[in-house]
Amino acid sequence: MMKKTDWIIPGAAVAAALVWFVAHNVTAKEGKKVIVSVGGIEAGTFDLDKDDEFEIEGDNGIIDKLVIKDGKANMVEAGCPDKVCVNMPEISEVGDTIVCLPGKIVVEITDGKESEYDSVAN
Ligand SMILES: [Zn+2]
Repeated sequence: MMKKTDWIIPGAAVAAALVWFVAHNVTAKEGKKVIVSVGGIEAGTFDLDKDDEFEIEGDNGIIDKLVIKDGKANMVEAGCPDKVCVNMPEISEVGDTIVCLPGKIVVEITDGKESEYDSVAN
């Protein structure tokens, strides 16, 4: 059964999504970014000011776990044999990196504008 009011809900949802999208993009461009790449190919970009944790699948079946918390990114677990990346200090400044050589995983902090520029250049 279709009532006239049924049309209000999708419309409101679309409007809310648009507002979220615009607000999200504006803040994302101003904040620092965590760029994760595997084998030199960008695998994902995340906001440094947004707490998150995720697994990165690297080369050789190596899976590393990265945590973003309080404006810092830190490798907390790794499937690599040497665990060098886990022992690296947490990163928070533009240009800081965590590298997992066996997994060919690089985690880098950039400002949003710089990464936008890179993606255009590539
Ligand atoms: Zn590692």
